[in-house]
Amino acid sequence: MAPAAIPDETSEESSHPPSNEAPNLIFHPTAGYKLPRLVGSDGIHLFCKDGRDIVDACGGPGVACLGQGSEVKKRIKAAEDRQRNEVAYSSAHFFTTTGAGDLEECLIESTDGKMTGAWFCSSGSESLEAGIKLARQFHVRTGHPLRVNFIARKNSYHGSTLGALSLGSHEWRREIYEPMLGQNFSHVSRCNAYRDLGPGETIPQYVARLKQELVDEIERLGRETVCAFVVEPVVGAAMGSVPPVPGYFRAMREVCDEYGVLLVFDEVMCGMGRIGYLHAWQHPLIDVVPDVQTFGKGLGAGYQPVAGIMFGKKIADVLGPFAHGQTYQHHPIACAVAYEVQCMIREWNLLHKVNVMGKRLIRGLHTELDKHPKVGDIRGLGQFISLEFVKDKKTKEPFPHRFQVAERIHRLGMQRSHCICLYHGQGCADGKNGDIVMVMPAYTVTEDEIDMIVDRTAIVIREFFETAA
Ligand code: PLP
Repeated sequence: MAPAAIPDETSEESSHPPSNEAPNLIFHPTAGYKLPRLVGSDGIHLFCKDGRDIVDACGGPGVACLGQGSEVKKRIKAAEDRQRNEVAYSSAHFFTTTGAGDLEECLIESTDGKMTGAWFCSSGSESLEAGIKLARQFHVRTGHPLRVNFIARKNSYHGSTLGALSLGSHEWRREIYEPMLGQNFSHVSRCNAYRDLGPGETIPQYVARLKQELVDEIERLGRETVCAFVVEPVVGAAMGSVPPVPGYFRAMREVCDEYGVLLVFDEVMCGMGRIGYLHAWQHPLIDVVPDVQTFGKGLGAGYQPVAGIMFGKKIADVLGPFAHGQTYQHHPIACAVAYEVQCMIREWNLLHKVNVMGKRLIRGLHTELDKHPKVGDIRGLGQFISLEFVKDKKTKEPFPHRFQVAERIHRLGMQRSHCICLYHGQGCADGKNGDIVMVMPAYTVTEDEIDMIVDRTAIVIREFFETAA
């Protein structure tokens, strides 16, 4: 088969910026080029109006965790109908509902009592805003009103609203808004052994270095002024499913406890089963309980926009009414759907499946692409797997941002000759440069589908670099 052309400025789907010669193409404000229109779906297949049958290897940014098969759709519709027939909307200030109540109980139960309170909203960014305010409210309620500073990590992404963007430090996402971002947010080093482990440095030494840096930052800000340390337990789009090194979170927990700083885990991308445990903090590599956790994406599996936070007894006992509110918080139908998603995850034993299929996925990608000169790293946990591309495997030099390597790989994958949708991200090396694609199939994926995803991903990557080189 002749290799497909790498999308460039002249191809139909890539008018970037949009071409005046194609006035009937709708310029998409997010992608910046014309997007294919979807008219159907089944399992991990997405059907385009132009006839393409795209294998969805990522569920958007790891959202569609149950795929879009008929059984799932039937169950979701029944859950929506049940809730709608009871009550479609009510203010969470006045009532609770079956959907919100069931979801709250089921999630709290899944933490073995480690979390005792839950609050639901519509997006990950909102959950981070709520997490920031919850942390602040806790300190005010406990007599520490000077605690106003938040520490997060370099190369992190926590959402697009101004508070969440201030927490993040993804340079290319922040730069336009920099002067408007909060002043109470600072960033310590990320935990990324592939890029940052020093020559000859052992993992315990690396952990000790990062621990000392957090201590130093708290001391620099003033030990009585720090509100929370906010981290993604497994870093998502900003770096490409980077797990912590062993012992990292235990060390961070010790520092937070010593200084009275709350530990907030942003599990919006890595949580809700994506790494084979319902909550990322339950993974043995992480194995510490945060004070607050945020979640989103997989919570509603894409069937409803729903996200939220949970917090432990320490906070629940002193909180009182949470001084924060939104019209659609605890939306009955969104929560009913999220609860039904949880039921399917349990009934179908999907967390176990994520572990098994995730191993098959990463093994397949290693077999196909370990030796590829431009694939610097293949990593991840469960079905949260990424490939990082480098110009030079030895030096790990990234491709410059303007080459848009990951995005172009994604676009090549979407072409008729390949038909695979891979998630793409930029900035993994230094916040601006560095390219990843992420593979995050639905938890319902079969062995054959995993093998097909591996094959197509490998073909696309090889072809991209052969043609682009
Ligand atoms: N936090 C993390 C770790 C994320 O990956 C994202 C989204 O990609 C967010 C927060 C923001 O979520 P949302 O896009 O639903 O607002």
